[in-house]
Order: sequence, then C-alpha cells, then structure tokens
Amino acid sequence: MPNSICTTCGTQYVDSDQVPNSCLICADERQYIGHSGQQWTTAEKLRQTNRTAIKFKEPGLIGIGIEPQFAIGQRALLLQTPHGNVLWDCISLLDESVVQAINAWGGIKAIVISHPHYYSNVVEWSRAFGDVPVYLHADDRQWVMRPDKSIVFWSGATLDLLPGVTLIHCGGHFAGGAVLHWAEGADGQGVLLSGDIIQVVADRKHVSFMYSYPNFVPLSASAVGYILSAVRPYSYRRIYGAFWGAVVQDDGMAVVNQSAQRYLTAIRE
Ligand SMILES: [Zn+2]
Ligand SMILES: [Zn+2]
Repeated sequence: MPNSICTTCGTQYVDSDQVPNSCLICADERQYIGHSGQQWTTAEKLRQTNRTAIKFKEPGLIGIGIEPQFAIGQRALLLQTPHGNVLWDCISLLDESVVQAINAWGGIKAIVISHPHYYSNVVEWSRAFGDVPVYLHADDRQWVMRPDKSIVFWSGATLDLLPGVTLIHCGGHFAGGAVLHWAEGADGQGVLLSGDIIQVVADRKHVSFMYSYPNFVPLSASAVGYILSAVRPYSYRRIYGAFWGAVVQDDGMAVVNQSAQRYLTAIRE
C-alpha cells in the first residue's frame, strides 16, 4: 500500500496494509477533521491533480508551494547560502519539475521544519535529494507520523545549522516550535523564517501567536514572553510567515515587539 496523506493537513503516514483510522495531527485541537470527514490521498494521486509552484522572494530565497492549494496551504522556502541550500518547512507534493529546478540550484543540504503541521511529505523530499538530514525539534518527537533514518532530533535553545543560519526554539504553538534566523537575508539586515510559530497576519504589519489557529485558542502571556526572549538576541528586518504573501517587509524586530505588547494587553484584561 502506498503511504497515505491526510487531505486536511497534508501529513504523510508510515507505510501500512490499511489506511489509518484517523489523522492524529487533525484529531489534535490545533487542527480539525475536514467537513467531509477524514479523507486520504497519496503522493502519486497528488502528482496527477496538483503541481508545484516556484516564486522568487528575494536574492537567495525561493518559495515552493502547491497549485491548486492543498491541505493547510503553506509554502516551503529554499534558502541558498555559500555553504549549501536549506529547505525551510515542507510541502506534501514532490514532482519532477521541482526536483530538477532545485538540483539546478545546487540541491539541498538540510531540511528544517518549524513544527508538525508542516512535516507533510518530508521523507520523500529527503530521499529525492540524497537522504539529506531533516532537523526536527525533539520536543515534537511524538508528532512524527512517518519515522525515518534521515530525521535528526535537535534539542535545546538554538542550533547553528550553517554559518549565518540559526534555528531558534520558540515553543508556543507546539512545544518544539522553531524559527530560522538568516543573518545575510534582506541585504544583510537579517531575515526570520517563522512558519506559524510567529504568524504574519493579514495586514503584514503585525504578527500573532496562537496555540490553535483554526480553533482560535490563544497562547498564555508566559508562552509569548518565551518567544520574545528567544528571538531577542537576533537582528532582522524581514519576516517570512508560512504562506504566500505573509511577509513583513521592514522593521521586523519592532513589529514582533509591538505585536507582542498588543497581544499581552488584549489577554490581560
Ligand atoms: Zn491530518
Ligand atoms: Zn501550525
């Protein structure tokens, strides 16, 4: 049997004789079961109905998404550095055109994922680029639905992945939630790749922080405080959230600080 992929969250499950009963990611209160009940697809079926879409975001940063939109709808980001390319977050679809394009740009040295909602089809992505390591924070180990030898669990507050590329543990939305700091991004003024750990909101002038986005469950003041202190040592002008267009272009550090103060005021009374 091919590995099943949940159509609501895009997570691929371990190979088994039968389709899983339900998706554990969607049964969790940070997601939801789709309105038509639990539905599954496979990577092969997805390749017949959808395709990958590539958009250049800024020098050294390329967005990779799925058209038409699938599951949660996030796009991944390929970060190009002189020390190798990093894939930030992942998507459920892997097709020949995206493999060729990425290989032409030098392949992938490591894959890093912000949190379990974007683990998606990462094992197939790793294999397609030579079994490259997949860095997941150890605090989210329980949410890995397809264990694989390529997965490297990292722990602690930060991980220096490559020169100028640092993973920062923030927790919050998920216990192992992480963001990536790219020092050379935004013309050397710094970039944060934030997934939905620090969520770029509709006005692109603020961010927000939630335990559950679809079910509107906020984070506590102490959890938001932890995120703020985790990113405080880093300098960044721009923030790329999880979705196309979810980008804070300028004043990223001020945006995070002011948004956190607004949020804390709102939940405190
Ligand atoms: Zn699911
Ligand atoms: Zn999420």
